[in-house]
Amino acid sequence: MSAVSRRVLVTGGAGFIGSHLCERLLDAGHDVLCVDNYFTGRRTNVEHLLGNPRFEVMRHDVTFPLYVEVDEIYNLACPASPVHYQHDPVQTTKTSVHGAINMLGLAKRLRARILQASTSEVYGDPSVHPQPEGYWGNVNPIGLRSCYDEGKRCAETLFFDYHRQHRLRIKVARIFNTYGPRMHPRDGRVVSNFIMQALAGEPITIYGKGSQTRSFCFVSDLVEALIRLMETPDDVTGPINLGNPVEMSIRELAETVIELTGSRSELVHKPLPHDDPVQRRPDISLARRTIDWEPQVRLRDGLGATITYFAELRRELGLEKGAGQ
Ligand code: NAD
Ligand code: UDP
Ligand code: UDP
Repeated sequence: MSAVSRRVLVTGGAGFIGSHLCERLLDAGHDVLCVDNYFTGRRTNVEHLLGNPRFEVMRHDVTFPLYVEVDEIYNLACPASPVHYQHDPVQTTKTSVHGAINMLGLAKRLRARILQASTSEVYGDPSVHPQPEGYWGNVNPIGLRSCYDEGKRCAETLFFDYHRQHRLRIKVARIFNTYGPRMHPRDGRVVSNFIMQALAGEPITIYGKGSQTRSFCFVSDLVEALIRLMETPDDVTGPINLGNPVEMSIRELAETVIELTGSRSELVHKPLPHDDPVQRRPDISLARRTIDWEPQVRLRDGLGATITYFAELRRELGLEKGAGQ
């Protein structure tokens, strides 16, 4: 329980990362208001919190104004997987841009601290590796991923302009690939796809050669970093990279998932999506210095917990027949 209890708004609170964040904030003794339009989030992600009198859920789309009274805002509302954010790209940009304006307007009226869930996608297909915060990125402004990348870049611009113009207390976190329990099983992201495919004994779909790299952070590590960042002094604004610097190829990830599930799934290759970044790994020197943080959970342990979650979900959905293990 932290010394001072606060009223905290989490937008996108019924999503994957948001639901873990709500849980941790409640554990720390805060009152939590979860706002979500359930586009990619699910009620079941926060069902276990509903009995807590300090927890409240509101169905609301952040592209519309929101009038509530809180001390702190974590702005996570935005679909995060390419399949979902490309489903309605105009709404994706609106969510990032109008959502940021509304949440910044709310923070301005309340003089509340506000944290933005930005992304490693602001670096695009990076030509600097690993990526430090000072790198401005290599982003296609008109491609299929642009609604997400440019929306998040514009949100960062708005955060810094509200900070300079209205002296808002802002924190910008650039989150790298994060995984764990409560990822949406069909959101098309690589960790959920590979585990669901391995558990079903279906072919594991590697896009392209599988030589592209990513660095995967377990959700509990990420949530710890978000909370530490929110608690930094007012002169700490970020942007700050949050992610796990252990980099691996997508093929290596597929092989690890097969090993950990004991699956007989074979590897198949599918076309590489447009503008798929070739490599990605965070430089987390700034996070180490500023919030004294680095990831603690090893990939194998995090994948183990995620596999257990998806296996249980398959049982609940009656899908366990035909499993590959
Ligand atoms: P998620 O899709 O599980 O969660 C996003 C949540 O936002 C969902 O509950 C969804 O219903 C909600 N939402 C979407 N549009 C909304 C709107 N207009 N109004 C209200 N709610 C809305 O994704 P996640 O992985 O939990 O991502 C959370 C945040 O972290 C996102 O902002 C994402 O861009 C960022 N992020 C995630 C990752 C990652 O690897 N998971 C990496 C970088 C950044
Ligand atoms: N806003 C909100 N809740 C508030 C205050 C503002 O949703 O409590 C929204 C409102 O839609 C407004 C936007 O935030 O348009 C930006 O607010 P700001 O004060 O920066 O600008 P203005 O009100 O002048 O448009
Ligand atoms: N990927 C893959 N097979 C899948 C899903 C994704 O090979 O079934 C690849 C994808 O092309 C990308 C990487 O895995 O190179 C990470 O994809 P994800 O959608 O999880 O995140 P992002 O591309 O946003 O990092």
